[in-house]
Amino acid sequence: MQIINSVKTMQEIGNNWDAGKRIGFVPTMGYFHQGHLSLVAEANKQSEITVVSIFVNPSQFGPNEDFDSYPRDMQRDLELLSNYKVDYVFSPSSEQMYPQDYRTWVEVEGISSILCGASRPGHFRGVATVILKLINILKPNLMFMGEKDFQQVTVLKKMLKDLNCITQIVPCHIIREDDGLAMSSRNIYLNPEQRKQALCLFKAIQQAQTQYKQGIRETIFLQKEAADLVKKFGGIVDYISFVEPNTLQEVAIADDNTRIMLAVFIGKTRLIDNAPLKG
Ligand code: AMP
Repeated sequence: MQIINSVKTMQEIGNNWDAGKRIGFVPTMGYFHQGHLSLVAEANKQSEITVVSIFVNPSQFGPNEDFDSYPRDMQRDLELLSNYKVDYVFSPSSEQMYPQDYRTWVEVEGISSILCGASRPGHFRGVATVILKLINILKPNLMFMGEKDFQQVTVLKKMLKDLNCITQIVPCHIIREDDGLAMSSRNIYLNPEQRKQALCLFKAIQQAQTQYKQGIRETIFLQKEAADLVKKFGGIVDYISFVEPNTLQEVAIADDNTRIMLAVFIGKTRLIDNAPLKG
């Protein structure tokens, strides 16, 4: 496992991949849990060379968000990665990625400003920009990303298609704790009481799935029931939305394609989750 901090060095490696070898890339912000590691395992399965990036990308955090307090532990991350076949870990500094004269941004219109984009203006602009930079540096064939960030996958698929990039996204399943809470680096912010409250996202998904199975199709009803459940647990709803999975447009009447998407504040911590309504 080679650890590369220099953009220039990584780009030289990226320019000289063996033709015929499939390059699998796992972009992350570090502080690994099983969700991240499942992506690395999938990259190992589907590619000959695996590259993992660890970069807490400042441009995807809003001014009042948790960029400074975002958990970081490079030593622990590298130890966890040593259980996998990782050829390169790319961890550049912010100064190299965004030098003082940096001026270029990638905007995926429409789908970047709904759901998480509505509550986090500029977030997907930062995500799209850093991912395009990373794939220009690394030139991977496949990029492994978690469906935990379902909107992120949708926005980036659109960017890769619109900008004729060769990289393809491989969406990977959400990894959950035993009780159903989706794993997230931000779960560390939760105190024991909040950890219990955080289960409301998964419970709301399960309730909606059950109600869908019982034949309920009106999303206005499903949404109200989910919101009531979240409130009972002590969560504050940011959004609960029932969407068509390619466009992320809300639907009034659910069908077997519909996905439930939600973001909830537990105290100051904002958690997201999603699942197919069909289960
Ligand atoms: P992050 O470090 O939060 O930027 O996440 C890096 C990658 O890990 C993204 O593609 C996430 O969607 C993915 N990821 C985060 N949590 C999970 C999870 N619980 N299950 C699967 N993938 C995840």
